[in-house]
Amino acid sequence: MTAPRNYFRILRERTRSAEFNAMFLFVTSRCNSLCRTCFYFDKLNSRDDLTFGQIQRISETAPPFRKLWISGGEPFLRAELAEIIAMFARNNGVRNVNLPTNGLLPEKIFAAVDRMLAETPDDVAIDLNFSLDGLANTHDAIRGVPNNFTRTIETIRQAEERYRGVKRLRRNVATVITRENYDEIVRLGLYLAGENKLNGQYFEVVRGEAPDKSLKSLGREEVAALHKRLMPFHRHYAKKLFAHLPPGVRQIAELYYLGNLRLHFDLHEKCLEQPTRWPMRCTAGDSTMVIDHNGKFRSCELRGIVGDLAEFGYDTRAALASTQMRDEVKAIESANCWCTHSCFIHESTKFSPRVQLFEIPYAWLRDRFERLTEAPLDEITAFKTMESL
Ligand code: SF4
Ligand code: SF4
Repeated sequence: MTAPRNYFRILRERTRSAEFNAMFLFVTSRCNSLCRTCFYFDKLNSRDDLTFGQIQRISETAPPFRKLWISGGEPFLRAELAEIIAMFARNNGVRNVNLPTNGLLPEKIFAAVDRMLAETPDDVAIDLNFSLDGLANTHDAIRGVPNNFTRTIETIRQAEERYRGVKRLRRNVATVITRENYDEIVRLGLYLAGENKLNGQYFEVVRGEAPDKSLKSLGREEVAALHKRLMPFHRHYAKKLFAHLPPGVRQIAELYYLGNLRLHFDLHEKCLEQPTRWPMRCTAGDSTMVIDHNGKFRSCELRGIVGDLAEFGYDTRAALASTQMRDEVKAIESANCWCTHSCFIHESTKFSPRVQLFEIPYAWLRDRFERLTEAPLDEITAFKTMESL
């Protein structure tokens, strides 16, 4: 297949009309960390998690959708995690699962991931995202758990050994940028890239109501400066991620991957300090639904509770079609709502032909241009050294 044909095939898949596409499911409120960045901290470790039967009813009554964003609490503290994921793959056609973890419970993680891989079809991709917010002292201080960094790194090492070659299980690190780790993020990236045990590292500016407000004192200019220094990491992982694809397809995949990430960085910068309109409508509540650990539902993770699934007999379609949810969608549109939440930026771009056709390729071009015209940054030199070893 030629590159242009590939381009138009991928484009067709990416310019769909808006439809329900993603569920954010808080599988438990239980957590063994004390993160000072946690927007869910006031709900943690309550005793009102949805039962397996209620989650089963949610799955049976939900429309088909592709992406399941697991949330919590620490998801691996939910005993039936693998069975829940397999159920959504079976009943709803879920083909991509985003699975965050603090990495502190390797035995539980590996037992559950083994079951997930055994019980889901081969075309279900799972992104296992380990949280790392700095080098050892900084990470442990932000997350409130002694030796957290060392323990999570060891879990990542074991995961690499155990799942090496399992292509549909991508092992990534998710890093939250805060005031406290700002100066360390590049060093963390270099350390992880040098370890060579990951498929990607993703960066998000701290968002929502963090218990420690001081972590949020970041300005647009400094975040923009950091983003420029982080793009080389995305390029590094993009090469690895798409190395198996034939030429043509590989270049297009890299273009969309890097263009998307650059666009996310742009929106994080623009929306950090003031409301700035996204280049697409936020589709929260239409293409997405957030279900808290206790069955309360929302359009997105940053807005308030819209309703309680219990009032709808845990019927997902009924809750999605409810007056409350329809009013919420209208309110989002009329408020010109804005934020830096990558998951919802990602979900919303999927339904915007303008973003898919112009904004993402343009963001990629700008990144290429910046790369060509700017003086080499320290980490690029470091990468070159690393890759030539
Ligand atoms: S951010 Fe995640 S790991 Fe940290 S306290 Fe909150 S739920 Fe737990
Ligand atoms: S813009 Fe952000 S806060 Fe507003 S509805 Fe969308 S995801 Fe939620």
